[in-house]
Amino acid sequence: MEAHFVDWLLGRIPADPRLEVPPGDDAAVLRPPPLRRTVIAVDMLTDGVDFLLASDEATPERIGHKALAVNLSDLAAMAARPEAAVVAVALPRERAAEIGRGLWTGIEPLAAAHGVTLAGGDTNTWDGPLVISVTVIGSVLPGAAWRRDGARPGDLLVLTGPCGGSLLGRHLDVRPRCREAIEIADRFTVHAAIDISDGLSLDLARLMRASATRGEIELHRVPIHDDARRRAAIDGIPALDHALADGEDFELLLAMPADDARDLVADPPAGLAPAIIGTVTQGAGICGRAADGTPLPLEAKGWMHDGDE
Ligand SMILES: [Mg+2]
Repeated sequence: MEAHFVDWLLGRIPADPRLEVPPGDDAAVLRPPPLRRTVIAVDMLTDGVDFLLASDEATPERIGHKALAVNLSDLAAMAARPEAAVVAVALPRERAAEIGRGLWTGIEPLAAAHGVTLAGGDTNTWDGPLVISVTVIGSVLPGAAWRRDGARPGDLLVLTGPCGGSLLGRHLDVRPRCREAIEIADRFTVHAAIDISDGLSLDLARLMRASATRGEIELHRVPIHDDARRRAAIDGIPALDHALADGEDFELLLAMPADDARDLVADPPAGLAPAIIGTVTQGAGICGRAADGTPLPLEAKGWMHDGDE
């Protein structure tokens, strides 16, 4: 199956001037954009952990889309421009060809939409579950990458869109904020950034720990996705809790100087509805505040990976 599938795949990858040697050789050769730094991220998705192939909703197409999209979201969190990707898959033996083609069908349009050239990959079949690992390569001007460790007391915290309830389907239809991030980086000062992969409160805590600052969230200002309200109606857990802890929203959380934050919210990139949700202060950890300023407990909750803190 493998040689046949790889031939099929190679026939579908459009030529790209960034590849001095295209896929099909022992390795691809990428021409890095002049005067820019190379940004690299990798993320591996496993059946049973990140999706359920046996479910009706997790088609190979949507899984392929998600595998590239979550990586692009990490580039967005660095304000990096996507350039190339390499894809490694372990396919369950009995449906290998069908799943492999489905994955590609999901990857290809997203790669095209974000200007990503497929620089290569590896295909294996085995008796285990579907595993797909995507490595993305991006570029950014020297010193211009957003980082987690730059938030400063006095910054405002901006969330690029509503959170919560992604498990109702959005977790498979991830829309990485690459274009929006690059526009924000062009127009505004951003001191620190992270993408919301594991949960708003947990990723906020990570941002604050990296910056050695404290995050105070005005809980009534957290934009709540309709999906969070739908989940709340199903499980009785408040929609705000879903927004704070569900994860896989893939919005961006930005720490910005107050004037830049207000200007961004007043005139955001097309299609983006950012909201100021809190303030960076001196100290450590995170806390919530009610509309009248009363402090409220805020736990860092979300998806914890094995080996996490
Ligand atoms: Mg991330």
